[in-house]
Amino acid sequence: MIDLPTLERTMEELGQPSYRARQVYEALTKRLATSFADMSELPRSLREELAARLRPCLLEEVETRESPRGSAVKALLRAADGEPVEAVLMTHRRRVTVCVSTQVGCAVRCAFCASGSAGLRRSLSAEEIVDQVLGFMRRAQAQERRVTNVVFMGMGEPFHNYEETLRACRLLNDPGGVGLAARSISVSTAGVVPGIDRLAREALQVNLAVSLHAATDELRSRLVPLNRTYPLATLFAACARYVGRTRRKLMFEYVVLSGVNDTGEQVEGLVRLLKRPLYHLNLIAYNETGGEFARPSLRELTALRAALERRGLSCTVRESPGSEIDAACGQLALPRAGAQ
Ligand code: SAH
Repeated sequence: MIDLPTLERTMEELGQPSYRARQVYEALTKRLATSFADMSELPRSLREELAARLRPCLLEEVETRESPRGSAVKALLRAADGEPVEAVLMTHRRRVTVCVSTQVGCAVRCAFCASGSAGLRRSLSAEEIVDQVLGFMRRAQAQERRVTNVVFMGMGEPFHNYEETLRACRLLNDPGGVGLAARSISVSTAGVVPGIDRLAREALQVNLAVSLHAATDELRSRLVPLNRTYPLATLFAACARYVGRTRRKLMFEYVVLSGVNDTGEQVEGLVRLLKRPLYHLNLIAYNETGGEFARPSLRELTALRAALERRGLSCTVRESPGSEIDAACGQLALPRAGAQ
């Protein structure tokens, strides 16, 4: 992916008319072209000059894995500097969702998530984030389907890479380019308060999700170390500002860890924190990442949901497909040393 300003600058340097920039931009984002050689609308000499200067695709596909019933596909990609990037495609009835990574690794190190286990290696550029989506758009197109949603819920903490995350959202939303509706784009944060405040001020209607996972500071600091920097009171003050300013729904994600955060104390805390208009809770059964935690049984999960609903919370259980291929929530990780 190459953004329009870069293409305009390049055309100017090459002494080309500026409409050529838009031609290339549309070929990349609408026709999903992967090389300049494919752009027969351009003179051959220009195609060659562009190929010598710019890379239309920043991520190379190393491998894709598909879950047995085809509901999830995980792509292992490689950036130009060799860093591994993972993205997931999920199909559920009419909804075709791409889950993108915003970083290679993650600095947050949540206790139950594999993404942070090797720390942060680097942040991805907006172009590298958008290329994850374009790759899956090509795959969907070949099956006569269309990507309908993008979630920033892969590896990394989007608000530790705020500028590029927002630039990626704008590129995806650009009606002259990829053209996805802002409302079909969701960004998820582990609770980086300055990012929540910044997003509230952007003129961009993307959805926000906050990964909560515990309703007391004691437990949350253990599960999400970022809670020591932005404890619940600080986090929820920002959430209230966000909803007050945007009037948009705010989603809270809660990975259910059997016997750890599904206790009566946590239920009480959740009711206290979340019983507000526009707040919605999404429960996710913990996916195995090889740690100390256990996945709740369907009965435990249903009981928790019922207990929360009885107390008046708006609450759903999120499907997290792809665990058979290590593509489910929390399972995206850097390859172990020597594993590749
Ligand atoms: N760093 C951001 C973006 C990643 S979103 C954030 O934390 O929100 C990935 C979602 O999957 C988060 O809600 C995360 O908490 C959840 N998750 C992480 N590990 C998981 C696991 N082992 N099982 C189920 N969900 C998990």
